[in-house]
Amino acid sequence: MILLAKTKSKNERNSKSDGLSLFLIDIRESLGSGMTIRPIETMINHSTTEVFFDNLEISHDSLIGKENEGFKQVLNSMNAERILIAAECIGDSNWFIQKAVDYAKDRKVFNKRIGENQGIQFPISRCYADTEAAKLAVYNAAARYDAGKACGTEANIAKLLAADASWNSANACLQTHGGFGFAKEYHIERKFRETRLYQVAPISTNFILSHIAEHKLGLPRSF
Ligand SMILES: Cc1cc2nc3c(=O)[nH]c(=O)nc-3n(C[C@H](O)[C@H](O)[C@H](O)COP(=O)(O)OP(=O)(O)OC[C@H]3O[C@@H](n4cnc5c(N)ncnc54)[C@H](O)[C@@H]3O)c2cc1C
Repeated sequence: MILLAKTKSKNERNSKSDGLSLFLIDIRESLGSGMTIRPIETMINHSTTEVFFDNLEISHDSLIGKENEGFKQVLNSMNAERILIAAECIGDSNWFIQKAVDYAKDRKVFNKRIGENQGIQFPISRCYADTEAAKLAVYNAAARYDAGKACGTEANIAKLLAADASWNSANACLQTHGGFGFAKEYHIERKFRETRLYQVAPISTNFILSHIAEHKLGLPRSF
């Protein structure tokens, strides 16, 4: 486990991000001697847990990088995580779009394939356009990350747009399937639940918008 922990007291810290350090923790050694892990049942296929620390002792060599500079280090890996999740959302979005297209070509209502109706086509086309645009934002963020350039805002924007694209595609796909969208055998309801996560984790939409407001638009800090 990679753990970010406070290593300075509140009055010793120069800023909110100062005084945090990163540690590499061996879970097997720590369980039962200062660390407790409790699984949380969730609506998604993701093993999620609560972790409790109570006087966990760790050795000096578990420190990663520089003491008290852990926040800067973890931010860098968070950008990579956001870009990775954004790419996952693009894949999800394309899956929903393809599934919707296949069904719309096949399903007949009133002797007509539902995909012949523009009321069915247009939401799917909109999702396709949004997904293509989000993909460019993901590639842009990934290219900046690979080149070692600052990419905090770009990674956030990629995650925001890709998560929105996949969520909108999930809704369009479910709607296209009508009642069968809720049937487990089509797997849409499962993917629908899973892609909903990315409006919240690893960073919630509101926090991305707040980052853009403050760091890109120069609006006053709100928290
Ligand atoms: C399945 C799953 C896996 C996860 N895995 C990890 C993991 O591996 N590591 C890890 O560190 N974390 C993990 N998380 C935690 C995840 O990063 C947080 O749930 C997420 O960042 C949101 O934080 P929170 O739950 O504390 O929400 P809160 O901060 O309690 O916010 C609740 C809601 O209020 C909104 N909100 C809060 N403050 C403001 C404000 N000032 N203005 C406007 N809106 C606001 C938020 O956007 C959110 O919608 C995971 C979460 C889930 C569900």
